[in-house]
Amino acid sequence: KSDLKTRLNHEEDEALTRDMQDLYSRLLPSAESEQRRTRFIDKLDRLLRGNWPTSSITVNVFGSTGNNLGTLDSDVDICITTDCREMERVCSIAELLAQNGMERVVCVSSAKVPIVKVWDPELQVACDINVNNPLALENTDLVRTYVDIDSRVRPLAMIIKYWAKRRILNDAALGGTLSSYTWICLALNFLQTRDPPILPTLQQQPKLEPKILAGVNVSFDRNIESYKDFGSRNKSSLGELLFHFFRYYGHELDFEQNVVSVRLGRILSKVEKQWHLLQDNRLCVEEPFNLSRNLANTADDTSMRGIHMELRRAFELIGEAKLEDCCEQFEYPK
Ligand code: ATP
Ligand code: MG
Repeated sequence: KSDLKTRLNHEEDEALTRDMQDLYSRLLPSAESEQRRTRFIDKLDRLLRGNWPTSSITVNVFGSTGNNLGTLDSDVDICITTDCREMERVCSIAELLAQNGMERVVCVSSAKVPIVKVWDPELQVACDINVNNPLALENTDLVRTYVDIDSRVRPLAMIIKYWAKRRILNDAALGGTLSSYTWICLALNFLQTRDPPILPTLQQQPKLEPKILAGVNVSFDRNIESYKDFGSRNKSSLGELLFHFFRYYGHELDFEQNVVSVRLGRILSKVEKQWHLLQDNRLCVEEPFNLSRNLANTADDTSMRGIHMELRRAFELIGEAKLEDCCEQFEYPK
């Protein structure tokens, strides 16, 4: 461990930071793709109201459409809030959409949060829809607030998401790895634990009024203005941050002992969290509001070993400022 590279030299740092800025500008959604998403949301709104004219219906966006970490090809995550009981059976929504030109309609009604997945061939938009799941709106707001506090958060988190996607490390449902949301929480806690910190801990500010929703406290400090200069004492470039992100999760953090907590802005021991009894030697990531939820439990032992190896591979390549190689599309061996 002692012979691990500790820092990038000046040339490496400049080259890597420049490459990251280039990649970031290519990942940003275009005006045209934003427009397609907006038109899709309007269309969905009209279809639902047409079918259930007497119900109160609000179409809310969450996930990467709401937290500013969406890329050109991100899906649209939608939460419908309504008093209509029939819509809570999401399959009724699936039927309606299938009759109105949507394709690849899948209704996952047995999931913890039932969802409908659709593809709109006209607007070329993929979408996940749930009904009355307000927590996802709150944690989306929390992420967006963090993203807005320091200008390094958005490019860094988008590049980490992109890397995870290219290395096939962000498919919680099918691949048994981690969701984008879990990678985002890893990035946020990494930035909270720098010295000096780049992000504050919004859920731990004094004088916060508790706000209870679905049985959990979802309050956090939304006053971005008071954090405008929060990270300015830390001068790290984007290149240095990416290098240390991979060093930290690849080599420094002990997965067996620790829990990543955005809520507390620090690392918690598994004993403190009472998660040591799970006999779990894998990485644990606490959901910021729903505290009993380990966001990393979608990855099993084997998958977690693979993720760890990928983090170390990325550290090696980023240590030589090789961003493109680091994000090379993973291909399964033939
Ligand atoms: P992408 O651009 O890859 O679609 P995303 O930011 O939309 O990324 P997802 O992993 O698709 O991230 O998650 C979408 C949203 O769903 C998150 O922003 C979060 O609000 C919510 N979410 C996902 N997983 C959980 C979970 N286990 N518990 C609570 N909320 C979750
Ligand atoms: Mg999404």
